[in-house]
Amino acid sequence: MTVDAVLSQCAMVRETGPGKFIARCPCHDDRSPSLAIRECDDGRVLLHCFAGCETEDVLAALGLSFPDVMPERIGEDQSYKPLRQRFDARQVLAILDHEAMVTAIIAADFLEHKELDEETWQRLVRAVNRINSARAQAAPLKFKNWQGSQQPASITAQRKEAA
Ligand SMILES: [Zn+2]
Repeated sequence: MTVDAVLSQCAMVRETGPGKFIARCPCHDDRSPSLAIRECDDGRVLLHCFAGCETEDVLAALGLSFPDVMPERIGEDQSYKPLRQRFDARQVLAILDHEAMVTAIIAADFLEHKELDEETWQRLVRAVNRINSARAQAAPLKFKNWQGSQQPASITAQRKEAA
């Protein structure tokens, strides 16, 4: 299994560096690429959805499973290395850049006292959660308990009524 086989199943693939890509996550309604894909020197292909999808679910959506992307069985001790070692600054920056732009656009509307519709609000929630997820990648020590599926400081999708 090469990274090409994974990429061929993905949409909106963008290369962010040698062997590093971001693409649309097949596992959730992903309008902007939030799936980071990395090819390791040892042939493994690492996947991480910045929106919080479980890697197993992402693989299933691609018609793959862990053995497909992990040629050799990895030991307990290294089954979940700090994500810092998995994704580089450019991938994190690409996510932060896009989500910061989305947040800035929505914030500008909000500051002009425009009514935010439900879809825009949900997009803002996703942007905040992705930014937090990316921050956890950039500074894992700040988010020691972060395990990939848990967001360090996710906000709820429940819209607060303006009092
Ligand atoms: Zn996802």
